[in-house]
Amino acid sequence: AAVGDKEILKGIDLTIRKGESHAVMGPNGAGKSTLSSVLAGKPSFTVTQGSIEFMGRDLLAMSPEERSWAGIFMSFQYPVEIPGVSITNFMKTAINSRRKAFVQMKPEFSKREVNVGFSGGEKKRNEIFQMAMLDPTLSILDETDSGLDVDALRIVAEGVRSLHTPEKSAIVITHYKRLLDYIVPDIVHVLKAGRIVETGGRELVDVIEEKGYDI
Ligand code: ADP
Ligand code: MG
Repeated sequence: AAVGDKEILKGIDLTIRKGESHAVMGPNGAGKSTLSSVLAGKPSFTVTQGSIEFMGRDLLAMSPEERSWAGIFMSFQYPVEIPGVSITNFMKTAINSRRKAFVQMKPEFSKREVNVGFSGGEKKRNEIFQMAMLDPTLSILDETDSGLDVDALRIVAEGVRSLHTPEKSAIVITHYKRLLDYIVPDIVHVLKAGRIVETGGRELVDVIEEKGYDI
């Protein structure tokens, strides 16, 4: 995958089965967020080679909305503020667009504008709330733990964990073992310079924690 003529992902071979959680770790600039963006269908990225299949469908032929309707959700590494749009309206629109019943949330929270004046931790909690409402088949969490204190991390991680069922899959991008102590991954990948250079079980998290990415 490339941005303009800059090649970023150089051959990602990844299979995620129903019910599996995969962690993707790797140094800054490796291409982790690019991988998320490509899966979600962000238009600034061009897929130059290869294919992506989601539940038997050609993902690359689908628009970002169609991918969401099919059950893909991506949380933002840097959630954006949307002044003038209340969370209730935001979620109602998102959920109506998926033709599901609107679920009421706490009025004092839902009346606030999307992420406006929220702390970093509150923004991330709002991401997980959206995820809970949308009930995705595949959740992609891009450094959801960044900027969280220990309590917020626990709340976010337990939220993610409580949403996980044998029918759901997840890609969890993180630098830290502390998130993966809550959301225990089945498989761990190390992404470096646009390629997956190492794949292993959860023990790989300890190796990275100790030795860094030069493994
Ligand atoms: P990671 O999430 O692993 O830190 P990214 O996927 O964000 O890495 O970025 C991978 C590389 O692609 C970086 O060198 C980054 O500068 C580059 N990149 C990402 N988005 C763009 C863009 N819109 N324009 C130019 N380069 C980009
Ligand atoms: Mg990133």
